[in-house]
Amino acid sequence: MSHSATKAALSYLLLALSLVLLSGPAQVSAAPADFFWLEDADDRLTARQVMALDSGQWQAFDEDEVLNLGFSDGAFWLKARVPPQPQNRVLEIRYPLLDVVDVFWVVDGEIVRRYETGDSRPFASRPLYHRNFVFLVPSNTETATAYVRVKTQGAVQIPVEVLPSAEFLAGEQLSYGWQAMFLGIIVALGLYNLFLFTIVRQVTYLWYVLTVVSSGLVHLHFHGLLFQWWWPDLPILNRYFTVPIIGLAMMAAIMFSLQFLAVARYSRFCYRFLMALMIGSGLSVVYGLFGPYQSGIALVAVLAAIATPAGWLIGLYVWFRGQALAGFYVLAWTPLLLGHLILAISKLGYLPRSFLTEFGPQIGVALEVILLAFALAHRINLERRRRLKAQEQALTIQRQANQTLEERVRERTEELERANQRLKSISFTDGLTQIPNRRQFDERIRDEWARTARQGQPLSLLLLDIDHFKSVNDRYGHLVGDDCLITVAAICAHEIQRSGDLLARFGGEEFAVLLPATPETGALQVAERLRRAIENATVYPGAQEAAVSLSVSVGVATMIPPLEKRPDELIQRADEALYEAKGAGRNRVMAYRGARATSADQS
Ligand code: GH3
Ligand code: MG
Ligand code: MG
Repeated sequence: MSHSATKAALSYLLLALSLVLLSGPAQVSAAPADFFWLEDADDRLTARQVMALDSGQWQAFDEDEVLNLGFSDGAFWLKARVPPQPQNRVLEIRYPLLDVVDVFWVVDGEIVRRYETGDSRPFASRPLYHRNFVFLVPSNTETATAYVRVKTQGAVQIPVEVLPSAEFLAGEQLSYGWQAMFLGIIVALGLYNLFLFTIVRQVTYLWYVLTVVSSGLVHLHFHGLLFQWWWPDLPILNRYFTVPIIGLAMMAAIMFSLQFLAVARYSRFCYRFLMALMIGSGLSVVYGLFGPYQSGIALVAVLAAIATPAGWLIGLYVWFRGQALAGFYVLAWTPLLLGHLILAISKLGYLPRSFLTEFGPQIGVALEVILLAFALAHRINLERRRRLKAQEQALTIQRQANQTLEERVRERTEELERANQRLKSISFTDGLTQIPNRRQFDERIRDEWARTARQGQPLSLLLLDIDHFKSVNDRYGHLVGDDCLITVAAICAHEIQRSGDLLARFGGEEFAVLLPATPETGALQVAERLRRAIENATVYPGAQEAAVSLSVSVGVATMIPPLEKRPDELIQRADEALYEAKGAGRNRVMAYRGARATSADQS
């Protein structure tokens, strides 16, 4: 998209350049005409009276010099004496904004032709249908003298020339071709950027389009083309169009500059200054519609003289402050500035008339809008790059955030699992003795009951109860009792090492030992080993100096669990055997024997 715009801009540039180069200074081959002028400050003289004036009252001037007479309410008279020549010639006044241009052709002291035209009169009043004022020289054989009365509310500039018709036509081809190309540039860039605006929706493009269209209209109007093309029968519009369209063009250009350069971001002062100029331009639009024409023209001329260099300098400033696009802006603004400079200098009479003085400002505008179009295209590129970069950054940040989140979730999950594990082990462990508690015992006996029942294996249970423990408590206190419980648990844990066996605190000072896949004989051996180990242990609980001797009674029960019964049966039997052991004198092991437990072999 930006590429094709660049190509188009380049081809326009080349065309414009070739036009400038092709048009050298016009070769005047005709015998020179003589030019004179005088001012009729009160605007009272008639053509006859002017013709009767003696030559001392006329001031001679050169064809190359543009009569530049400032603002005036009076009238000016020109006299052009055209010697005879075989070729047909025309007299051209190349400033189409003059209000009144009356021409009286005099041959042999007689007025042979008269025209009353000017841009305050309908376009049809012109002898030649041309944007400038062009009059045929009426005689090739005798000297013809043109008396031209000019009156205008705007600047009185009267570039006048007598040249062969053939040369006039040749120049006209070039000049009209350039005007058509200028219109083409304006229309193409205006439409193209209007489309861009409808797609991109950035108001900068709209201001650009308005700048292009309004400044294009200003220059077409200054060359008399809008009057010729659009409202040839409404000369009144010429008076109300000039000042407002210049004001509008300046408003659009300033708004565009503010947006494009982002002036507010770089300098509050520059922003306020341009805003003030913008408001001034807006007021000049209103003034042009309702105020007097002369002061309106002066107002926009002053504003333009300030705004053009100001725009250029602010562009330069913003550029040096690091705004990349401002370089393009300065580049684009430079030909416009040069064009306006050329215009100003030539209007002051310091530059001879040439293609450049006549078309310089217009070329400046053409180059400006082309370069700005290029800058806008470049801006799209810059913004696309910036957006891509931002997207990448956002993606990276998101990816990092996701990673961090995942890590944190994993950490939390692990923490939770550890906590669960801890809680579980706490809830399955006896707080005092640090061996499995009753809950774990109940769970395990249920599982083992079912498992051994399935496999048809015996399941044995020992129930241990410390003998006369109440009296230990009574003698040494509850804390010593606790220490004894810890010691007994430790001795038992030391003895019960086979995997699958379970030692648990069953309650108070009672312990249970579950022995899966163990027949009664094996269970009795384990029980006896435990009993003996405790009997032989010397316990020095706490700060106690005297050893406490402990003994346990053990009840043993073994069953091949029948599926229809519950593990309570086994506990019941072990408990009965324990009761028997106590009854038989304590510190012994008893096995369950049907309705009555029997003493185990103690040998
Ligand atoms: P025996 O079993 O020989 O018949 O007599 P015993 O004194 O041990 O009688 P019993 O089993 O009925 O008494 C249990 C006593 O054990 C009750 C209480 O004083 C003591 N005891 C139970 N649990 C704890 C405990 O956790 N810590 C302490 N220090 N003593 C406990
Ligand atoms: Mg007890
Ligand atoms: Mg006891």
